[in-house]
Amino acid sequence: MKKLYGVIGLGRFGGSICKELSKEGGEVLALDLDEDKVNEYKEIASDAVIADSTDELALKELGFRNLDHVIVAIGDNIHASILTTLLLREIGVKRITVKAQNDYHEKILQKIGADEIVHPERDMGKRIAHSIISSNVLDYLELSDEYSVVEIKAGEKMQGKTLLELDIRAKYGCNVVAIKRGKEINVSPMADEQIMYEDILIIIGADKDISRFEKALV
Ligand code: ADP
Repeated sequence: MKKLYGVIGLGRFGGSICKELSKEGGEVLALDLDEDKVNEYKEIASDAVIADSTDELALKELGFRNLDHVIVAIGDNIHASILTTLLLREIGVKRITVKAQNDYHEKILQKIGADEIVHPERDMGKRIAHSIISSNVLDYLELSDEYSVVEIKAGEKMQGKTLLELDIRAKYGCNVVAIKRGKEINVSPMADEQIMYEDILIIIGADKDISRFEKALV
């Protein structure tokens, strides 16, 4: 059965989620207080409605309880974001993802049972900072406070060497989990795999180890 999604708040973040889910064929109910925003998404989402998501009755009447996954993308109004999440939980929405504005907001969202809490600006800021520090860092994904996955263009110092010669695990404590070469991706590189010009390495490890690795080899 087709999954049913709800997007509450059609700012830049919610709007982009709504567009992408719809583009991928998802059934999306979009909601915002603002009439212009709702009109903008009438053609994009399966349905777009003007409503206040802190109004329990409105959420019930719109059938939010039947949705599989709701994304709360209310921007600055933390109070409305919290209340909306609480109501969605009470109504029985299966999965709720909420955009948090700050750590205090996140703590409350955790307490009231949001399934996923995202910090798009903070995470994007970190990713961009890493690619500014080294133009060879293509992407950066934080796994926890201590561990990350990075996508790195093979530096000159790596080219022509095998993973065994580079000895990344022993020297830097990081693991090369995959190597991208053009359209091919090798998800279990062997020790005798030779790194070539323009290879992209996917590396997992503790942030401090990744940082040592980047300084030495990237
Ligand atoms: P972004 O930073 O992602 O652009 P915005 O703060 O611009 O976020 O957008 C948040 C959206 O959420 C706005 O379009 C606003 O009208 C909507 N919104 C705020 N409060 C409510 C509410 N209680 N019910 C429905 N929509 C809301």
